[in-house]
Parts: sequence; C-alpha cells; structure tokens
Amino acid sequence: MPLPLSDPGRRARVIATIAACAALCTIDRSAVVPLGAAPQTAGAASDAASDATSNATSPGGLEVLEVRPNFFVIAGAGGNIGVQVGEDGVVVVDAGSTARASAVVAAIKRITPKPIRYVIDTGPDADHVGGNEALSQAGETLFPSNRIGGQQRDFTGPVAAILATEGVLQRMTAAGSTPAYAAGAWPTETFHYARKYMFMNGEAIEVLHQPAAHSDSDAIVFFRRSDVVMAGDVLDARQFPVIDVDRGGSIQGEIAALDRLSELAVPSGPIVSREAGTIVVPGHGRLYDQYDVIEYRDMVAIIRDRVRDLIAAGRSLEAVKAAGPAKGYAGRYGNAGGAWTTDRFVEAVYRSLVKEKP
Ligand SMILES: [Zn+2]
Repeated sequence: MPLPLSDPGRRARVIATIAACAALCTIDRSAVVPLGAAPQTAGAASDAASDATSNATSPGGLEVLEVRPNFFVIAGAGGNIGVQVGEDGVVVVDAGSTARASAVVAAIKRITPKPIRYVIDTGPDADHVGGNEALSQAGETLFPSNRIGGQQRDFTGPVAAILATEGVLQRMTAAGSTPAYAAGAWPTETFHYARKYMFMNGEAIEVLHQPAAHSDSDAIVFFRRSDVVMAGDVLDARQFPVIDVDRGGSIQGEIAALDRLSELAVPSGPIVSREAGTIVVPGHGRLYDQYDVIEYRDMVAIIRDRVRDLIAAGRSLEAVKAAGPAKGYAGRYGNAGGAWTTDRFVEAVYRSLVKEKP
C-alpha cells in the first residue's frame, strides 16, 4: 500500500521503506514508493530524492539513500537509520530492529570501511534499539584501553559506544522488559539534561532530549554541517504521532518536540531553486523538510485543540472519539486497524490533556 501522500506537488519526495515495527509501532504497511523522477519542487527532500536515484536497494532488502555528502539514510530495518561517515569513523543514529541488524551492518560496510564509533538511540522502542548490540559489536571504541595510560580498561571494551537518554537505559534494563535485552545492547553513555553534544567527522552533533513527547526518553539528533535532523518517533510520516502516555509521553511535549524540529530546520529560501534546506528524517516514512514539519505540527495542534474544547464541554472519552476530532486528517494519517489507530491517537491526546488538568 503506498504511503499516504496527499500533496501531489510533493509526491515524488523520497519515500522510506517501512518495515514492521515493534511495540506500539507494529503496523504492517510495508511500502516503497519508487525513488527518483523528482519534479521541480522546492525543498531539501526532493533534492535528496534526486540524489538518491543512484542508490539501489541493497541485497538485504534495505534502502540506502545518500541524502548529503557523507550522510546516508537506511530504510527498511524498523525505524529509519542515519549514517554519518567521515575521518573519525561512523556515527549511526538508531539501530533498527534486532532481526535486520546484520543486514544493517552489511549495508554500512558497503558504504564505508571505517568503523562504527557511536550508535545514538532516539528512543526506547525495539525498532530503534533492537540492533544496538550488533552494531556496537561491529564497531570499535574511539578510546582503546591500551591508549589510556594508567587508567582502567575502558568500560565499553573494544565496541562502539551506545548513547541515549537515561530513560532508554532504564527501559532496556527494567525487570520484565519486553523484549529483554542483553547487556551488550544497553547504552554505554546516557544523559538526562537537555542537550548533549559532540564533534565528529568535522561537524557538531547535538543530541536534544525531548522529555515528554512520544515517551519520556526521546532525543532528536541534529547534524549541523550536514544539515540533517534525525527526528526519531516524535515524527512519524506515516501516521498520527504515537504518544505513549503510560511511558511519559504527552501531547504538549509532542507539540514542543515538533516546534523544536521546525525551529532547527531551515527551508530552501529565498532562492528556492537551490533545493537545499534542512532534511528532517522522521522515525518512519519519507523525508521531510521544514514545511512538512510545520504542516504536521499544525495538524497535531489542531486535533489537540479540538479534543481540549470537547473536554471543556464535558464530553467523555467515548463522546470525544465519536465527535471525530481527527476529521480532515484521518484520511492521510489515520489507521482504522493495526496497532496505532486514529481512535488510539485521540484517546492518547484525551488522556494526556486530562492528566495535565490540575
Ligand atoms: Zn518507531
């Protein structure tokens, strides 16, 4: 089934393959819209589409797109994966699912012989962290123990570091976590503050914690020179955003995360024919530019406002659902079946708003 792209002017943008996700994202909508044949539309993503025409689907069934010089997006392994390549090695954002991890490692090895140095997780879901262990073990630490004079052996061992917010580690190590993760899959570096940063491969990389959006543990990762933002699950181009209220997600935090994305991104202007501008890579689905993010953000905010008005009018959850607050957007972003239905989205917005009330 093709992805819902209701804007015909932009329909030829790069579409990322969607594989089955784990946890809340388990929607079987495997879909590939052919790359290339990009019309003369403005925007970074169509630029990426043109660039991507030379990239073939790899033997592992993954799609590998070179969206910027030395920056690749791998689709089809769960969540979208970002791969930054340079003299320091490889920085990978999100690891995909466990099942596709060896195919992802093989795809990265085809891109470059350089070792993976970092795996950065954007969130706690299995379709983003499932490949942590395999990717980390395929890589190498930046700081081999024999180079740290007089200090103890580096705790990450010879493998690549795994960086995530503290909440990702807590979820992955929690008793009864499903799936259960081996210690080799756990983040080796965590942070709980707003912004973690590093400088790798000639550019600043900002890892920005969004404390209550899709969950309490989301991060968006901004590559400042490449001008690419890996958005993780706060942005899902296939459907309404998954807001996991039970794991600390909230509608207000979700909108704050989308605001942050639109503030980080710059559109291709005033000279639109350059087709430049920031590329925003959603957790799932096609590439976005700033206009797409703003449109998505407005959609979410409008539905939030409608649900808030219905709550203020004293409606019950069932009455709110029956009123159809997602009207006008359900055709493009809604699901009647699967794990994340329109009803579940509306319910999450409702529960989140009710929870916020004093
Ligand atoms: Zn996901």
